[in-house]
Amino acid sequence: MENIYDIIVVGGGPAGLTAAMTAASEGFSVILVDTKLNITRQTRPCCSMWILEPGFHNEAWTFKDEKIYFHRNDFSIPYSGETVDLQRSVRISSQGKTMVMGKRLMPIAKVIDKHNLLSGLMEETEKAGVQIRKKTTCLGIDES
Ligand SMILES: Cc1cc2nc3c(=O)[nH]c(=O)nc-3n(C[C@H](O)[C@H](O)[C@H](O)COP(=O)(O)OP(=O)(O)OC[C@H]3O[C@@H](n4cnc5c(N)ncnc54)[C@H](O)[C@@H]3O)c2cc1C
Repeated sequence: MENIYDIIVVGGGPAGLTAAMTAASEGFSVILVDTKLNITRQTRPCCSMWILEPGFHNEAWTFKDEKIYFHRNDFSIPYSGETVDLQRSVRISSQGKTMVMGKRLMPIAKVIDKHNLLSGLMEETEKAGVQIRKKTTCLGIDES
């Protein structure tokens, strides 16, 4: 007999893991699929800057007690990795134009470890009872 789930989450990045974990903790039966075999492994320098500007994405964050708190939407996610305050970021375009971010007293972002972020989210997602199916690619959605 086929398994029936309330929710199928496609993709185990920060968004998918958080969505799956939240839905499962609200009582839904959830399956998460991801193309990758090792979902938390990082092979590129992505999602390492956690922008701190209050109001960015309509949120405000605090890093405390191995958690990241989302104050406006009132929830938290686990994060036990290191953080480094990023005071300034300088970007140079292929045409040689320079963009400088952050000339103020407060850091513009925290540099985080995405592998640690995903590992913590994965642990909570599994604890919440989400079925994780690795090496599975969603090819489309059939509405029938
Ligand atoms: C080079 C680079 C640098 C970046 N740096 C930053 C940064 O410093 N700060 C920041 O906030 N953001 C950064 N980003 C954006 C960053 O990717 C996102 O913030 C974050 O990873 C988005 O999370 P997500 O869960 O939406 O998507 P992803 O992290 O991209 O996760 C998507 C997941 O879905 C899976 N997937 C995709 N399609 C399918 C399918 N059809 N079936 C099954 N599985 C599928 C993938 O394998 C992947 O695991 C950067 C992006 C890039 C490319």
